[in-house]
Amino acid sequence: MGSIIVAKRVSKSFGKKEVLSNINLTVKEGEIYGLIGPSGSGKTTLVKILVGMDSDFQGEVEVLGAAMPNMNVLSKIGYMAQSDALYPELTGEENLQFFASLYKLKKEERKQRIAYAADLVKLTPHLSKKVMAYSGGMKRRLSLAIALIHNPQILVLDEPTVGIDPELRLSIWHELSRLKNEGKTIVVTTHVMDEAEKCDRLAMVRDGKIITGGSPSELKNQYAVNHLEEVFVKAG
Ligand code: ADP
Repeated sequence: MGSIIVAKRVSKSFGKKEVLSNINLTVKEGEIYGLIGPSGSGKTTLVKILVGMDSDFQGEVEVLGAAMPNMNVLSKIGYMAQSDALYPELTGEENLQFFASLYKLKKEERKQRIAYAADLVKLTPHLSKKVMAYSGGMKRRLSLAIALIHNPQILVLDEPTVGIDPELRLSIWHELSRLKNEGKTIVVTTHVMDEAEKCDRLAMVRDGKIITGGSPSELKNQYAVNHLEEVFVKAG
């Protein structure tokens, strides 16, 4: 399997405060790679660098073999940020239409992609409502649909299931596995342990450093624990 994302010696400071310190990671083609760690550990800062939204850092990041940000590569990434960037005065469908138009999809393809993405996040019955009337969970679901709208090769999802009820969370993870089986590469941040267990490989982030990494079962074995939660305690 080829490397899709490679980060070498990535560090970042806000003022005098170092929030990422010498991060090295490789995300391989077709895997679900989880960045897991407590709130404030640096996960969002790191994914923004990986997707090319922040170029003010030390070190190197390559995605699909190109230094970021690279125009060709950007169109192959679907990024779902932690805070939703939606147009509240527009309907769900209009939001999807707008973001689809940015990728210049042909009319028929746009229609298909919108129907697919809305169905995936179970928003089809709510597409004609204005986004200002959506709940927090519905906004997260719409953001996920937008991240998928251009059928990207790489999905980078920052806390995608926050505010989403458990049943739908399961169905979203089911779809993520299906997308992975289609050959997509997925990077996901989470602090929910049952989600971490669904990843192929994990990097545990704490205080801006990757403190340990491996498959969920490797981490459990390495630390001789029953639950992944306990890895944090033992690794810390
Ligand atoms: P996580 O996603 O794991 O919750 P973040 O990457 O959001 O963590 O934050 C990591 C650290 O960087 C935190 O201490 C946070 O307060 C700090 N931080 C994030 N963004 C900024 C910013 N724009 N200015 C100053 N500090 C920031």
